[in-house]
Formats: sequence, structure tokens, C-alpha cells
Amino acid sequence: MKENNHDPIGVGVPLTSELIESEIQRMKPWTWRVFTPYIVYETCKKCNLCIDYCPEGVIAESDKGPVIDYRLCKGCRVCVVECPFEAIKVEREETE
Ligand code: SF4
Ligand code: SF4
Repeated sequence: MKENNHDPIGVGVPLTSELIESEIQRMKPWTWRVFTPYIVYETCKKCNLCIDYCPEGVIAESDKGPVIDYRLCKGCRVCVVECPFEAIKVEREETE
């Protein structure tokens, strides 16, 4: 059988804090993100669906509800669309 040498970069590589930090510094999403989501905790029901749906895996559970890691959030707004309680809103980033 022919060997597959074409796995996407990162597959099978364990996520370490060093790898995450290098990804943050490589991507710097805050320099180009157009939309920034924020959670309205008064409305949030802590169902954690946003955590499951975030394609970047940058929403974490906490006592007060989900918390977005803005160092890696790309502003894709999937969380906004998927929240069944409309508890995630977005702001448009200011441009100079
Ligand atoms: S999906 Fe909406 S209601 Fe559920 S935890 Fe996330 S923000 Fe809260
Ligand atoms: S905007 Fe996209 S990347 Fe950012 S927290 Fe929501 S789903 Fe995740």
C-alpha cells in the first residue's frame, strides 16, 4: 500500500501551551478580525452549545458561563448563529 505523506499540518501533533502560543503569534487574529463576539450573561442559559459549535475551539466553560479566548477567536460568528437564546452578540471592530 502506498504511504500517505499528505496529512494536514498539525494532525496528530499534541496541543501544548507552546504550540498554542506560537499559533496565537502566527495568526494574531485581533489584527484582522472584523467582528468580535461577546456573551450577554444575563441572557445566557449555560447550555454550552456555543462551546461545541465554535470551529476554532476557543470558547471555554466557566462558572459564570462560556468565555471566549479573544487571542484566537477569528470572528466567524458561528457561535452567534448557533446560540438558541441569542445570548451572543457581535461588535464590528473599529477600522482606522
Ligand atoms: S449557546 Fe448561548 S445560551 Fe448556550 S452557553 Fe453559549 S451563549 Fe450561553
Ligand atoms: S466568532 Fe467564531 S471563532 Fe470566535 S468564538 Fe464565535 S464561533 Fe468561535
